[in-house]
Amino acid sequence: MIPTRTTREWQAADSAHFLHPFTDYQSLARKGSRVITRADNIYLWDSEGHKILDAMSGLWCVNVGYGQRALIDAATQQLAELPFYNSFFQTTTPPAVALAELLAEVTPPQFSHVFFAGSGSEGNDTVVRMVRRYWQVLGQPERQVIISRHNAYHGSTMAGASLGGMAAMHEQGGLPIPNITHIDQPYWVQHGQGMSRDDFGRLAASWLERKILEVGPEKVAAFIGEPVQGAGGVIIPPETYWPEIQKICDRYGILLVSDEVICGFGRTGHWFGCERFGFRPDLMTFAKGVTSGYIPLGGVMVGDRVARVLIEQGGEFEHGYTYSGHPVACAVALANIRLIQQLKLVEHVHDDVGPYLAQAFAQLAEHPLVGTAETCGLMGALLLVKDQAKLTPFDPAVGIGMVCRGHCFANGLIMRAVGDRMIIAPPLVITRAQVDEMVALIRRCLDLTLADAQRQGWL
Ligand code: PMP
Repeated sequence: MIPTRTTREWQAADSAHFLHPFTDYQSLARKGSRVITRADNIYLWDSEGHKILDAMSGLWCVNVGYGQRALIDAATQQLAELPFYNSFFQTTTPPAVALAELLAEVTPPQFSHVFFAGSGSEGNDTVVRMVRRYWQVLGQPERQVIISRHNAYHGSTMAGASLGGMAAMHEQGGLPIPNITHIDQPYWVQHGQGMSRDDFGRLAASWLERKILEVGPEKVAAFIGEPVQGAGGVIIPPETYWPEIQKICDRYGILLVSDEVICGFGRTGHWFGCERFGFRPDLMTFAKGVTSGYIPLGGVMVGDRVARVLIEQGGEFEHGYTYSGHPVACAVALANIRLIQQLKLVEHVHDDVGPYLAQAFAQLAEHPLVGTAETCGLMGALLLVKDQAKLTPFDPAVGIGMVCRGHCFANGLIMRAVGDRMIIAPPLVITRAQVDEMVALIRRCLDLTLADAQRQGWL
């Protein structure tokens, strides 16, 4: 049983023993963690009884919202029936098979196979192993290089962090590992001002071709990207970007990998982000929304082009995890995907709350602090700027995003700051009335941040 304690007692034990991910330990110990104790629908409660609107779906994952009975029951029943068995030694379990079948049904037509992992990072490690193995089996072992983008996020394991383009992560671990290289991201504010978005999308895609020619096409194994970069700050590419990336991959025969860890399972108003942006990946990493975060599960959808080679010519694939196809995780995923279907959440985002959020963000764009306001399905980002017309950034020393995030945290709203971009990705079950409630909270926090900026002379 979990003991009953006061907030201060939890905080003391937390800083004494728990090394949190991506955290400055001394600074957290000075403040003390916020202790989250329960949740329902799109709301969280902390140990002091404060109610918080969770506009980040936990960590981009609680797509069906908190407290869904179907997922809780699926886990409980499967724990009682068969809590674990592996799939290494010519055995399988019904939940894993049923989930593999259902995934083949809800993913684009080129996918009829899945490799299960425990997380998005493990999924991307699998991608690295699998694309290199694919080319090896085809007698082209020199095709090793995987091209990714700066400011991408693909996880925190050695391969995941190497594929990712986060400079701070690379600095701390001697990364990237060999044969992973990066091109610039399709972020119009950074690289495209003065051009139309469509022209910029084509230009940003051309950087892939330039890199392929620089490396040598015979050495390139794959290109990987998130349809919309999530952790990088909800960077929504121009419409021209992905179709052009597809053409370039086709031209050189290199594998195209879509990291759908955030964009998958309805987030963009389509089942998968590649469907929203019109491209046809050979491999697709998933995690998070597959179980709505109720239990860890990740994996890779393997398209027919790759699956055929691995199955017919590959022999044994020397890769796998203890929890590949974990029966409880798979049972929860099955319940979760069926619930997404029953509640018609993809349609709800596409036809109803997605467009409604887009309208609300268009209005937020008029706030004097907001330089750009963009959404894609139920992901959104506001760029905070000093001068709206010129998109002049604040002095980085101000940390305007963190100032705004502080106001959100104190006012019952979870919104994340990535540099000066304030981002949201609320649960897909959110209603129009709850979008109104969220947007009113955002507006209030923007006003409080503006008042700080005026008082402190940051403008
Ligand atoms: N890929 C993307 C696009 C992600 O956003 C994340 C996590 N935020 C990962 C991979 C890594 O997933 P995990 O944290 O489950 O390892």
